[in-house]
Amino acid sequence: MSKRDYYEVLGVSKSATKDEIKKAYRKLSKKYHPDINKDPDAPEKFKEIKEAYEVLSDDKKRAQYDQFGHAGPNQGFGGFSGSDFGSDFGGFGFEDIFSSIFGGGSRRRDPNAPRPGADLQYTMTISFEDAVFGKETTIEIPREETCHTCNGSGAKPGTSPETCSHCGGTGQLSTEQNTPFGRIVNRRVCHYCNGSGKIIKARCSTCGGTGKVKKRKKISIKIPAGIDDGQQLRVAGQGEPGINGGPPGDLYVIFHVQDHEFFERDGDDIYCEMPLTFAQAALGDEVEVPTLHGKVKLKIPAGTQTGTKFRLRGKGIPNVRGYGQGDQHVIVRVVTPTNLTEKQKELLREFANISNHRPNEQEESFFDRVKKAFRGD
Ligand SMILES: [Zn+2]
Ligand SMILES: [Zn+2]
Repeated sequence: MSKRDYYEVLGVSKSATKDEIKKAYRKLSKKYHPDINKDPDAPEKFKEIKEAYEVLSDDKKRAQYDQFGHAGPNQGFGGFSGSDFGSDFGGFGFEDIFSSIFGGGSRRRDPNAPRPGADLQYTMTISFEDAVFGKETTIEIPREETCHTCNGSGAKPGTSPETCSHCGGTGQLSTEQNTPFGRIVNRRVCHYCNGSGKIIKARCSTCGGTGKVKKRKKISIKIPAGIDDGQQLRVAGQGEPGINGGPPGDLYVIFHVQDHEFFERDGDDIYCEMPLTFAQAALGDEVEVPTLHGKVKLKIPAGTQTGTKFRLRGKGIPNVRGYGQGDQHVIVRVVTPTNLTEKQKELLREFANISNHRPNEQEESFFDRVKKAFRGD
């Protein structure tokens, strides 16, 4: 339910004189005064009229309202920024109605009770290596902080917020209504104090009465070694400040880990591909393999097939929870040579001729299978 336009409420034009506004208010307030009008909607109507008059009869408030509408700086929005009340501001709290019907009824929020501050979320992109080894770094996050000029009260130094006279400091207004289900107590956020229970007459000029200021804050973060893409880190107490002296919220840093051009990660293990020449694969060799922990020598046995996987124990990623260390898997790919010189071609032809005389066991079994397949048995 959105708030009606104040001019509309009083039934006057935007250019109405002070006198016209006063007349309209007198007429309407008589009509809807709860002592006279027994319509169940009358108290709400009366309040609405009163509120509209309070703003439009005051030159300063009227000018602000004309400029900013209901969200104007002096319409009571400033003093409260908690998310709890924001959604049902100006309307009836759905839960409140039901809890009243079904006997709950006692769910009243004390606006002066301490409440924890909101949690913050921050996505941080880090390099593959930083995720593996961890790193200490600082991040800068925009967040709200308690205003130091007024110590969070929102009131000008030397003054203090007053208890809202409309709701008696509870932050809520109630209206009762008789229905076939019984009497329903409708509770709504007090729109005089915007649910804070307090009225600030003289606003703090630093924060404009909100009691909070936006700041970019530097926070040092320890990226845990072994963190993986999508995992998050909770930094306790670095969220938004608490309300009414409540504890601050937490900061959640979500890590986005960049890809590596050579390594691929799967959990705590690392995979990479290593090219081998035909000669290296056939004759065997010792090769140097890059790992995250420096170069490592790997023995390639003679007759290694393409796709063979070798495991380098402990050369993977430390487990983020401290459960040991992953491995690195090296998958070898035998690369068929291209752009051969005449001499190389000659040698290969010779090699092929010799090989054809004595097919090895693998080749034999392969051709056997092909023959059988064509014969169909
Ligand atoms: Zn302040
Ligand atoms: Zn109030």
